[in-house]
Amino acid sequence: MARRRIIAGNWKMNKTPSEAVALCAELKDLVKNDAVDVVYCVPAIDIVPVVEAVKGTNVHVGAENFYIEDKGAFTGEISAPMLKDAGVEYIIIGHSERRDIFGENDILINQKVKKAFASGLKPILCCGESPTLRKAGTYKEWIERQITWDLDGVTADQVKELVIAYEPIWAIGTGETATADQAEEVCALIRELIAKLYDQATADAVRIQYGGSMNAGNAAELLSKANIDGGLIGGASLKPDFGQIVNA
Ligand code: PEP
Repeated sequence: MARRRIIAGNWKMNKTPSEAVALCAELKDLVKNDAVDVVYCVPAIDIVPVVEAVKGTNVHVGAENFYIEDKGAFTGEISAPMLKDAGVEYIIIGHSERRDIFGENDILINQKVKKAFASGLKPILCCGESPTLRKAGTYKEWIERQITWDLDGVTADQVKELVIAYEPIWAIGTGETATADQAEEVCALIRELIAKLYDQATADAVRIQYGGSMNAGNAAELLSKANIDGGLIGGASLKPDFGQIVNA
């Protein structure tokens, strides 16, 4: 089954609103590719200007975080309806930086996945193992456990619209990329797990990205693998290299 490639940038806590608009202008012609879903996941304060800046282009906008309630006394948070109203389509959930630095656990991540779907946002659900688990050889069990918990109560029809990003923590921002075979091994495992938890049609539909120091030099090999349908890109999403990844 042909799955549409999805290349998403995770801008993290970089770019002021005016810098964000300038980056959109810099990348505009470089990221043109109608065969690929291109997404910029941007800091909350950049969402409104970025939505405006990419109007009429092939770029979709994503957010990096939200809270599970629609409104109320949650100082500092933003809600799914706010994101939706601002023109956001995708939402990163379960990134290792949110898990490790901000203490988000799989119970909250599962609630966020369900809330995102209920609100019409498409989750990019991240999973991945630490260097310790990779060395210990228990990374497969860890990934299976994360995905199983994070998708509890999520329907097959929803999973068909889901994007899962496999992001080994040892490869994020380190310059150390998983080899294409290491990435493919885990992406294939995730697809098999989805077939077990749901059915083969759902496993064939779900899109799985690799993330972790993907760049203009290694993207083509990673993206050539049967179970890697795209990339979630941090550092290289802030540079013209992102265009080369989109067109790899
Ligand atoms: C990320 O944090 O999602 C990521 C993949 O970062 P980098 O590309 O910088 O490793």
